Amino acid sequence: MRKCLTRMLGAVLTLALMLSLPVFMAPDARAVTQAEINSLKQNASSLDAQKKELQKQLKAIAADKSKAMEQKSLLEEQIDVIQSEVNNIDQQITKYDELISQMEQDITQSEQEEARLYELFCQCVRSMEEEGSINYWAILFNATSFSDLLDRYIMLDEIVEYNEGVMNNLAATREQIRQDKTAVESARAEQQAAKDKQVAARRELESSEAEVDKLLAQINKQEDKVEHSVKELEAQAKAMDAEIARKEKELAAKLAQQGNKITTESGYLWPLPDYKALSSLFAGRKDPFTGRPATHSGIDVPAPKGTKILSAKSGVVITSAYNKGGYGNYVVVSHGDGNTTLYAHMNSRAVKEGDVVKQGQVLGYVGTTGRSTGNHLHYEIRVNNARIDPVTKYSGMLTYRGSVLK
Ligand SMILES: [Zn+2]
Repeated sequence: MRKCLTRMLGAVLTLALMLSLPVFMAPDARAVTQAEINSLKQNASSLDAQKKELQKQLKAIAADKSKAMEQKSLLEEQIDVIQSEVNNIDQQITKYDELISQMEQDITQSEQEEARLYELFCQCVRSMEEEGSINYWAILFNATSFSDLLDRYIMLDEIVEYNEGVMNNLAATREQIRQDKTAVESARAEQQAAKDKQVAARRELESSEAEVDKLLAQINKQEDKVEHSVKELEAQAKAMDAEIARKEKELAAKLAQQGNKITTESGYLWPLPDYKALSSLFAGRKDPFTGRPATHSGIDVPAPKGTKILSAKSGVVITSAYNKGGYGNYVVVSHGDGNTTLYAHMNSRAVKEGDVVKQGQVLGYVGTTGRSTGNHLHYEIRVNNARIDPVTKYSGMLTYRGSVLK
């Protein structure tokens, strides 16, 4: 009877012990998650900080760029003005060229006219000589009378005088045209000099523009580089999310194979019962003071070094690791079905991968490891593998700068 009671008591105790554990873990489930740990190098917290820094750089680059573009458009405006001046001078030069060529034609015409008249005069004199009507000697010796002689003499004189008059006029006109032409040529030369000056000024502006273009190209290259880095960081953050999701899923599959399942509470316990004032809000939540949305992957809760960090819900530890540049010492607990909680910047960790943890169990202690400037807990909640604002799970419980958060 006594033996039977003892045996019964033993069986009841074993049963109670089993029931108290929400999860039954096979040792190989731990090995699976352990194998993944080393590949999980990326850290979303550090990625967010790096991204912020890069976005600051992008802003500075954009400012430089808009300055350069402004400079460029100013130079282009100046080039445009100078170009229209050059075009105007070109038109004037063309007019002067037309005028000069017209004057050259006039001079040639006048010379031809003079030559023609001279030839005509000579012909006239020759024919008169041939006719014997005007031979000076003939005039003197063949005159039929003194009055005839006088008539002949006057006629000859008139012809000569008339011819000389015409010829002199022609020569004067030609000389005037020559003088005008010289004036036009010097005006044209002045315009040409003005044009040369403008063309030189334009060339200078163009070389300035080329410099600005070079600068812009450099800025664009820099911008591309930083944008590329931002994209890379985003990809890494996504990879981090995917990695957590994958490990969570694999664990669930392993447990299912063993006929086990993670069972957990519906509510979330606050991991730092004595510290409920946040120093940083989750991405998208508007700062009640500045009205600007936060860009943070979780929430930050300042607390003294060594403060116990409690598991928000029961589950299985899928990551317990140290990440140098970002989360520092951090723990990720799976609560099944793509639901996880993440605790970062711990001074030290109290659990290891594969550990089955109960709600309220100590996961580690507050610290400032990784990318952190003071003792605080960085806390993230994922529901269906997507980050959510942890505050929504603790509505009315937490404060930010003295305001209670809904
Ligand atoms: Zn944080």
